[in-house]
Amino acid sequence: MAKLYFYYSAMNAGKSTSLLQSAFNYRERGMNTIIYSSIIDDRYQIGYVTSRLGINSPAVVFDTKFDFFEDVKSRIKNNTVQCVFVDEAQFLKKVQVRQLCRIVDELDIPVLTYGLRSDFKGEPFEGSIYLLTWADKNQELKTVCHCGKKATMNMRIAEDGSVCEEGDQIAIGGNELYISTCRKHFYEKKPGVIKDVGRNFTYII
Ligand SMILES: [Zn+2]
Repeated sequence: MAKLYFYYSAMNAGKSTSLLQSAFNYRERGMNTIIYSSIIDDRYQIGYVTSRLGINSPAVVFDTKFDFFEDVKSRIKNNTVQCVFVDEAQFLKKVQVRQLCRIVDELDIPVLTYGLRSDFKGEPFEGSIYLLTWADKNQELKTVCHCGKKATMNMRIAEDGSVCEEGDQIAIGGNELYISTCRKHFYEKKPGVIKDVGRNFTYII
């Protein structure tokens, strides 16, 4: 039986790396996969899932209007699909998570999703709420805070080094930086030592 998986974590825990490794394992066995990635995330080239380790793979981009169920259904007319991957799954709408459930339940294709659980204010993302609620299996990908504890939260740092408390939930790119921290240091607003190097930030643990 196919299942819906949600792999969640704070920033920089290796979600895209994990996705690319799993997709590679399927393809190595001659299985056909589809990788989706959000059009919102333009940190790297649109149409690719890119790991910070430097590996990448082409991806079909989705926006908030995209219909995953219809897209997969049209693809399996010509080709079998053994697995569906979704990167940046926090950006999914509720209706899109439901579509992913239908791919699992009605088309019997496993769906592996990867995303952040909460935003820089500590609030959950829409896609993550419904994935955590409806997925057959939720698994945390772990990373660490500067104190050594598990990092579960995402802090947004402005160009002047201050911790952002206001602003839109989605602000990718620009000159802001995200740092994953434990809950204690998130609410104490202690990201660790941040060094401003030219226009880029360098974070020193
Ligand atoms: Zn900490």
